[in-house]
Amino acid sequence: MNESKICATCGTKYPVKYLGNSCLICEDDRQYVPLDGQKWTSSVEIIQKHAVKIKKLKANLFELVVDPVFAIGQRAILVVSQSGNILWDCIPLLDKKTVAFINEKGGLQAITISHPHYYSNMKDWAETFDCPIFLPNSEQDFIVNPSDKIQFWKDDLVDFWDGIQLIRIGGHFPGSSVLLLPNTNRKRIVLCGDTFNLSLSMKHFSVMYSYPNRIPLLIKEIDEIKKKMQHIDFDEIYGFWPYQNLLNKPKKILMESLERYK
Ligand SMILES: [Zn+2]
Ligand SMILES: [Zn+2]
Repeated sequence: MNESKICATCGTKYPVKYLGNSCLICEDDRQYVPLDGQKWTSSVEIIQKHAVKIKKLKANLFELVVDPVFAIGQRAILVVSQSGNILWDCIPLLDKKTVAFINEKGGLQAITISHPHYYSNMKDWAETFDCPIFLPNSEQDFIVNPSDKIQFWKDDLVDFWDGIQLIRIGGHFPGSSVLLLPNTNRKRIVLCGDTFNLSLSMKHFSVMYSYPNRIPLLIKEIDEIKKKMQHIDFDEIYGFWPYQNLLNKPKKILMESLERYK
């Protein structure tokens, strides 16, 4: 294969010069290598069978997913904001239709990603839209395709424009974060990736070191998450799966879920 390899299990894109046969993200104990071994694909192969499906969640929020589902299957969310749009999380396919759609909405001023499982082909997105990617310096070792578009942050908070804040929560990864959008149509919104994982019942969140491998967090880490979330008020929360839109009492449900960890 003369083009960049993309891990078929997690969707992470490696540079052309990468000659290894293992995926750093999947070898980590928060992910997994399939029983039948490491599999690779490429952008060319993905685009033959998949497209990006765009769905309007709210006037200023658009969900982007690879359809049919590929690899982890997370969504990215385009946040349209007056002083500059932000892409929250990343998906491993960027097609022409999506580029046109985002440009029509004003392009991207920044990309922020909750944690390394969604770094995917972030370099392609950043180069296409000529914008920085904000990543916590605690996760530098998981960047397999370095880019001069990456800007590291090290504190617990990045203040963007229009009151938008990137907040480090920790847990799943030390730098696992959420994006807080204040007063969006009078609703405060949290985009959480899988920093919190909303159940299919829509009544519980789990917080884990590894979701696919069922590895819990230490109680002291849960306590840290509780302390942080107590201070963040929000009316709606959007997780990494497309069904995870919780618009009714999300903070109550989150805090009650965290209380179950003792
Ligand atoms: Zn992988
Ligand atoms: Zn994850």
